[in-house]
Amino acid sequence: MDLDALYKQLVLEESRNPEHRHHIADSTHEGEGKNPSCGDELTLQFKIKDDIIEDCAFTGVGCAISQASASIMSGLLIGKKVSEAKVLLKDFLRLIREGNVEADAEEALGDAIALQDISHMPARVKCAVLAWHTALDLLGGQEEEVLEDAID
Ligand code: ZN
Repeated sequence: MDLDALYKQLVLEESRNPEHRHHIADSTHEGEGKNPSCGDELTLQFKIKDDIIEDCAFTGVGCAISQASASIMSGLLIGKKVSEAKVLLKDFLRLIREGNVEADAEEALGDAIALQDISHMPARVKCAVLAWHTALDLLGGQEEEVLEDAID
């Protein structure tokens, strides 16, 4: 996929899922993520009940990649258990760092695979992973563990 096609797909994805860009009035988790190198700023919210992510949404400003990535992630995480969400978040970060993941992880990531080619664009990697890092922080994921995984 060339860069133009990638951008088109991302923008299309974003426009398909406007329901994930909004404020959740009764959220249980909220956190901010910033990517100063691009100017992306997002506030991510979760509504978690009985260990299930009932809702996930974001607000803020940013480039098409950061916004589309947050939208794709929100759609992916809604309805998942917190433990399942952490696995998906870590698999995505590994996908972007290393360029590929195992077939079953790839299948589980669904539409997020559209962002795979970002791994070849170092300047945009931070845009693509911003929402996912913010989510992992909010859910109590271990950043250090992810970094170690990436080195292995
Ligand atoms: Zn950006």
